[in-house]
Amino acid sequence: MASHTGKILEVDLSTGTISTTQLEDDVIRNYIGGSGLAAKLFLDRVSPDVDPLSGDNIFFIMGGPLAGTLLPGSSRFTVSFKSPQTGIWGEACGGGDFAPTLKKAGYDGIAVTGKSDKPVYLSIVDDQVEIKDASDLWGKNVYETVDILKDRAEKKSSIVCIGQGGENLVKYAAVANGKDAFAGRTGGGAVMGCKKLKAISVTGTKKVEGASHDELKELRKELIAKINENIIAQSLQAMGTNMGMDVGCYMGDVPAKNYTMGDPTEMALKIGGGALTEKYLTSNHACQSCPIGCKRVVKVDDGPYKMDEGPGPEYETAATFGTLVMNDNLAAVLKLSEKVNQYGIDGISSGCSIAFGMECFEKGLITSDDLGGGQLRWGNIDDIFEMLDKIVFRKDMGDTLAEGVRAAAKKIGKGSEDFTAEVKGLEQPMHDGRALHGLGLAYAMGNRGACHVQQMTLQIESNWCAYPEVGLEGGYAGMDSKGKAAMNIPCEDIGMLTNACVICQFNLVALSIDDLVKMMNVSTGFDYTIDELMKCGARIWILKRGLNNLMGVTAEDDRLTKRMLTPFTDGGAVGSVPDIEMMKKEYYTLRGLEADGKPSKAKLDELGLSDLAARL
Ligand code: SF4
Repeated sequence: MASHTGKILEVDLSTGTISTTQLEDDVIRNYIGGSGLAAKLFLDRVSPDVDPLSGDNIFFIMGGPLAGTLLPGSSRFTVSFKSPQTGIWGEACGGGDFAPTLKKAGYDGIAVTGKSDKPVYLSIVDDQVEIKDASDLWGKNVYETVDILKDRAEKKSSIVCIGQGGENLVKYAAVANGKDAFAGRTGGGAVMGCKKLKAISVTGTKKVEGASHDELKELRKELIAKINENIIAQSLQAMGTNMGMDVGCYMGDVPAKNYTMGDPTEMALKIGGGALTEKYLTSNHACQSCPIGCKRVVKVDDGPYKMDEGPGPEYETAATFGTLVMNDNLAAVLKLSEKVNQYGIDGISSGCSIAFGMECFEKGLITSDDLGGGQLRWGNIDDIFEMLDKIVFRKDMGDTLAEGVRAAAKKIGKGSEDFTAEVKGLEQPMHDGRALHGLGLAYAMGNRGACHVQQMTLQIESNWCAYPEVGLEGGYAGMDSKGKAAMNIPCEDIGMLTNACVICQFNLVALSIDDLVKMMNVSTGFDYTIDELMKCGARIWILKRGLNNLMGVTAEDDRLTKRMLTPFTDGGAVGSVPDIEMMKKEYYTLRGLEADGKPSKAKLDELGLSDLAARL
């Protein structure tokens, strides 16, 4: 028996029909699951011209073949769609327990099409699937929605939902699983919001099969032992992802003041993982079947930012609402992160949009009149809270910033595009391509825009791990562009696998690609080799690239903005700028892309994508 079911639950919210489709084994073997399988289904079913906020856009929410096996890091889920923020392929990945619970209900994923006239939620209890009224939930935040639906379910359930951000079609609204796991990037929450789909409640009571139960148990033991011995995994357990704040400063990898300040060490030490652990940490929390537990549980006992015990920020949100906006008040960072969670918006894009707005305000491109009489000053905590509310409820300048920085710069004009750090409409995360040139290339080539988790470039280039079995030997120098195209390609292919298999990259840091092959074979019953699995990664990357080409992406979109290419005058990455043109040229040759940015016919044929070649 294999751990995947091959079954996709099909829900049409326009007609109210519910059905299932059974996928062929060769489709599963070649596209695996998660966002890989979703990309294949999207290509087959959806016109690339689809309006992202129309009923014809499909919202895919998928687990992977490893979900439910209890193998380490295997419980994450992915969401995929055409993005309302970027207008190209959109996807995001989150942790929690949704994917294994959905598998126990009998499904590998859900495809939601159409649009409901009134708010609804999907209730799944094994084979019993119903579309239910959610009028009483509309207007509730993520935490409230999760509590209500958990109470309403007769048995233990996993809840996926949106907050007010998704309802109000904030272009970077997130999809939440519970209160501390978010698929944040590219606006899946807005896609759910436009469909009036407030939530999905799933209860699963079936057993997830593995190819070989005893082998699976043995492998689980072996891999957990490896992870427990790994220094990066140990640091993540102790300090969470926010350990990156303290360490990253020395490399010039922590963006500050809207990507203009090279050395934010003083601020970073006040809000980094060390300070958070010492002052506000009450415990850590793990996604189901994860031996690491990078998630933070925090509490602020008193003061203006008092908060009950609950989820704390990951590094990305700590930096966007900390150094990027010049806020060194850690309690305020925690409270802002809680608001971001409750509203259900992406912590990266929201913080970046506010930082961009601050620079526009400082330089006089937007005025107090544009802000409804308010202000948007660097490091002013009240201004940040106020703008966050305005974004979510789309008031005055908040309505503009709710579109993301690229669209906001287009609307504001007056040279404000010089303040943007984005690729293909997605804001740069809290790692800097000036400190890590390979990551700069990864941003430029990213299929969902500037993203640090669609590939494993960040971990490889920072020498957290190495995979010599696929040519990633380790020992890389961040501020060097040479050889980075060759490095980035397997990093991207592995990234595609992490979002298809679906496995947490922090767990994979402690393992090898051979371990991933073992996990896949023992779960699915297939007999993958490293070569075949890596080829699947390449196939999925090229498929998403082809989808983007069909949606209008050309070679001109593979670029970094002026801000991302302006050298720092201080800090760990002083004077360093990635040689993006040289890396891009090498990359195109190695990846099999033509000068116009489309994959060559030979590359498409080699990867079994001849159908796509005919459409490009
Ligand atoms: S390392 Fe963190 S994000 Fe990854 S599975 Fe574990 S708890 Fe979830």
